Amino acid sequence: MAELTTALTSLLDAARAGTEPKAADLHQVLAAPDHRLMEIVAAAAQLRHEHFGNKVKLNYLVNLKSGLCPEDCGYCSQRLGSKADILKYKWLSADDATSQASAGVQGGASRVCLVASGRGPTDKDVERVGETIAAIRRQNPNVEVCACLGLLKEGQAERLSQLGADAYNHNLNTSDDQYGEICSTHTYDDRIDTVNSARDAGLSPCSGLIAGMGETDEDLVSVVLRLRELNADSVPVNFLLPVKGTPLEGTWDLDPQRCLKILSMVRLAHPSTEVRLGAGREVHLRNLQAVALQVVNSIFLGDYLTTEGQGAKKDLELLSDAGMEPLEPVTFPESVEDNQPQASRDELVRPRKRGAGTSLAPNA
Ligand code: SF4
Repeated sequence: MAELTTALTSLLDAARAGTEPKAADLHQVLAAPDHRLMEIVAAAAQLRHEHFGNKVKLNYLVNLKSGLCPEDCGYCSQRLGSKADILKYKWLSADDATSQASAGVQGGASRVCLVASGRGPTDKDVERVGETIAAIRRQNPNVEVCACLGLLKEGQAERLSQLGADAYNHNLNTSDDQYGEICSTHTYDDRIDTVNSARDAGLSPCSGLIAGMGETDEDLVSVVLRLRELNADSVPVNFLLPVKGTPLEGTWDLDPQRCLKILSMVRLAHPSTEVRLGAGREVHLRNLQAVALQVVNSIFLGDYLTTEGQGAKKDLELLSDAGMEPLEPVTFPESVEDNQPQASRDELVRPRKRGAGTSLAPNA
């Protein structure tokens, strides 16, 4: 009991003093029993509200090139030899990518994430992405654009910056120790090099993790501290979607309480950094998604790269129910209020006509 209270106090003190969190304190958060969960969330929520108020940044993914990747990341449905039932296509045209991106911006997204499968881009691919960035900006001048194209070769980060990219995403995903079990075609150091080269070129570094891949608490604390060393501006936290046809198919290690402890631990270690709730939130957090918004300050809107999310309108309802607001005003075709007008709310309050006192089956 006392250890967790002491650890949370120590983590809050470190956060406010701008000093390094202690790994042992972060471990206490992950190891805490479920009945202490709300104490943990409350501590993390203090930092979230101190730095970000009730604002939520909305990010929108556009998968520029899907599937057929030569790498073998075990969590990925686009990997070498994947039997997953996913869309496979080559590069979207700049116009197609722009129309996808504009839908996200209309839904309130302030950042568009342009993602392509593959080990890394060729120089020609980088130019192609530059044309897409320019086309998106013509329609949406204020949107931030993040590129996520894999490992970068020398000079490519600088070129992406010249072509108008604001940020570059490349996730560490897990600890150095576990990385070899997850992927054999590139190394952890390759990943770190790419994040460093993006930052050195003036791109805002975005790098995060995937939980639920069989990692230990030590792995999670290790990657979170490594991301601090990398000075990531944005830390996406994904929860494994064990897609059928991938090596991690059937790996269901997470529950909503565990997910909230992980998110809170990330927030306590990254007090003023954008912590983004990534893929898997609908499946793993389920009814606790709104609680997670007290800890994170950023989410993906709508669908993910190869799997469907819960829908942008439902995401906006989620924000509204949690007392949160999108960072940018939403020009969604129907406002959140319109999405559930009085008439349909009234329909939710229905006199019971089944079960006890009737001849119909109960609702159980
Ligand atoms: S490099 Fe990217 S697209 Fe390819 S298998 Fe790994 S995560 Fe998937």
